[in-house]
Amino acid sequence: MLSRAFHVVIVGAGMAGVSAATRLRELGFAGDVTLVSQEDEAPYDRPPLSKQFLLDGDADAILLQPEALAVQAPADIELIRGNPVVALDARSRELKLRDGRELHWDRLVLATGARPRALPALARLPHAQTLRTLEDARAIRQTLMPGTRLLIVGGGPIGLELAAMGVQFDARVTLVEAADRLMTRSAPALIAEHLRRHHEDSGVDIRLGRSVVAVRDDGHAVFDDGACVAADLIVVGIGVQANDELAVQAGIASDDGIFVDGFGRTTTPDVFAIGDVTRQRNPITGRFERIETWSNAQGQARAVAAYLADPDSAAPYADTPWFWSDQGELRLQAAGAIAGDEQAVRGDPDSGRFSLIQWRDGRVVGVAAVNAARDFQMLKRLVAAGSRLRPEVLVDPKADLKSLVAAAAVSSTPA
Ligand SMILES: Cc1cc2nc3c(=O)[nH]c(=O)nc-3n(C[C@H](O)[C@H](O)[C@H](O)COP(=O)(O)OP(=O)(O)OC[C@H]3O[C@@H](n4cnc5c(N)ncnc54)[C@H](O)[C@@H]3O)c2cc1C
Repeated sequence: MLSRAFHVVIVGAGMAGVSAATRLRELGFAGDVTLVSQEDEAPYDRPPLSKQFLLDGDADAILLQPEALAVQAPADIELIRGNPVVALDARSRELKLRDGRELHWDRLVLATGARPRALPALARLPHAQTLRTLEDARAIRQTLMPGTRLLIVGGGPIGLELAAMGVQFDARVTLVEAADRLMTRSAPALIAEHLRRHHEDSGVDIRLGRSVVAVRDDGHAVFDDGACVAADLIVVGIGVQANDELAVQAGIASDDGIFVDGFGRTTTPDVFAIGDVTRQRNPITGRFERIETWSNAQGQARAVAAYLADPDSAAPYADTPWFWSDQGELRLQAAGAIAGDEQAVRGDPDSGRFSLIQWRDGRVVGVAAVNAARDFQMLKRLVAAGSRLRPEVLVDPKADLKSLVAAAAVSSTPA
C-alpha cells in the first residue's frame, strides 16, 4: 500500500468519518489526517441511542474505536471537537472552523451526516424532541420512567425501537403514524403488519393514518381526527435531511444528499463525501438514493479511504444496502429492495421467526428477516449475487441455504 503524504481533512466524526480516518491508518496512509467534529462528545456510535443506551446510560460503551483516536501524535489522527466547519472554499482548499481557525486540505471528505426533520406543529415545545445525538438520548432517558406518557410521532425504525424501550420502562406509549402502515420506507407491508401486531400486543397504542395537528397548553396532543392524547414526552422520528449546506455553499452538486460515485467522489475534484450525507447509486434499485444505514456509513467510508490511499488498486463501493432494527424481542434485518413483483415467506410468521424474500424479473432482490439471523446472512448473499433461485426452492424448509449460496457464488463467477 502506498504512503503518499498529503493532508486529508474529514468533516464529521460519526461512523463514516471515524471509519474513513481509521481505515486510512490501517492501510498505512502516511499523510496527516484531521477529523473535525461539531459535537463536544468523543465520537460515538448512534444505533445504541434508541436501544441499550436508554437502559444503561453507559456512554463509554458506545465510543467509536477510542484506541484509534486517543493518541493525537502527528502520525495518528488529529481530532478537533466542538468546533464545526462553518465555511468551505473548494478553490483555495481552505476550511474555516467556528472559532476562526483555518485549515488547508489536499483531500476533503464530507461526512456530516443528517439531522432529524422537524414537525412545525411541535417546534419549540419544551417536552417535544428528536433522537439523533447522545444529548437527545440522555434527555429521553431522564424523562422515561414507569407511567411516563410517551407519544412517538413516526412509525419508522427509530420510533418503533423507542416504543419497545418505552414498554420496557413501563411507560404508557402511543405511536402515531401518518401512513396507513408502519415502516413504509424500510420494510415490506407483511413485515410491517407483523411488527404492528407485536407492538400492540406489548401494549403500544398505535394510531395509523393519523397525524398530530396541535399541542394544547395542557400538553395534550391533538390528532387530525380530533382525538387527544396526554403526553409528558413527545419524540418525533419522521426521517432525516442531509447536512449538505457546506457542499451546496461550495457549488458541489447535492439534492438533499451530496451526489457521489462509487469512490465517494463529488462533482468537485478532491472533495469526497461518505455516509448519511450522500446520495449514491443503489446497486439494487439502480437509482441515486440516500442510504441511511450504519453498514453503509462504514462500508462506503472504508472504500473511499482505500481510494485515497491508493486510487489505482481501489474498487468502487457497491455493497448491497442492509440494516437491522431491534424492537423489543424482535430483531429485524433487511437487505436490498423492499418490494418486487413476486414474494415468498421462508419459515412460519406465527413461530416468530421467518424471512420474506422478494424477486423482480426472476432475480432475488430483497430479504427482510425477523429473528432469523442465520437465514438472513445467506439470503443477503443471494440478493447481492442477483440469484435466480426460484421461490419454491428457497422456501423449502429442508433447503440448505449455505450450499445454495455456495452454488450461486460459483454460477455468478464470470467465465
Ligand atoms: C437513534 C438512532 C438509531 C439508529 N439505529 C440504527 C440501526 O439499528 N441500524 C442501522 O443500520 N442504522 C441505524 N441508525 C443509522 C446510523 O446510525 C447512521 O446511518 C450512521 O450513524 C450515519 O453515520 P454518518 O457518520 O454518516 O453520520 P452521523 O452519524 O450523523 O455523523 C455526522 C457527524 O457530523 C457532524 N457534523 C455535521 N456538520 C458538521 C460540520 N459543519 N462540522 C463538523 N461536524 C459536523 C454531526 O454533528 C455528526 O456528529 C440509527 C441512527 C440513529 C440516530
